[in-house]
Amino acid sequence: MSFLEVISRFANRESRIWVNNRGFSLYSVAMERQTPQRDAIRSLFTEDGDPLTPQEILEQATPLAPRLSIATVYRTIRALEELGEIVPVELPGEPPRYELAGKGHHHHFMCDQCGRAFEVDACPGDLSKMTPKGFVLRTHDITLYGLCDSCSKRAG
Ligand SMILES: [Zn+2]
Ligand SMILES: [Zn+2]
Repeated sequence: MSFLEVISRFANRESRIWVNNRGFSLYSVAMERQTPQRDAIRSLFTEDGDPLTPQEILEQATPLAPRLSIATVYRTIRALEELGEIVPVELPGEPPRYELAGKGHHHHFMCDQCGRAFEVDACPGDLSKMTPKGFVLRTHDITLYGLCDSCSKRAG
């Protein structure tokens, strides 16, 4: 069999998959089944929401979409990231968290008791006074550490 014959066979098989009615309906059923789970995960990302780990996403979305699995969470994160709806938040030494895309400049607070990250809207502003002579400051990245409100209450 020539190379061209192999290619055309492969192409025909592919196109049968796309035009085959049963194949197409199976595909759309699979997509439909995934939509409530995707919507549940999507609803966690709001303008004033804190960045979430995949595990936190699983815990918070499960009451909205039962039988959600961590594999589906990861798959949905990847899809929403590709759609430009969410962005990763990388805090030093931490696995990535995710938040809604397009938020303005902001910072984060890490609770070293419960390990949750929170959004901080305040910013010290221009830090060029801290910049060494002759250096050009482009941006800054600030993470605050301490106890969140519920952990500080528990600590008394
Ligand atoms: Zn805490
Ligand atoms: Zn800032």
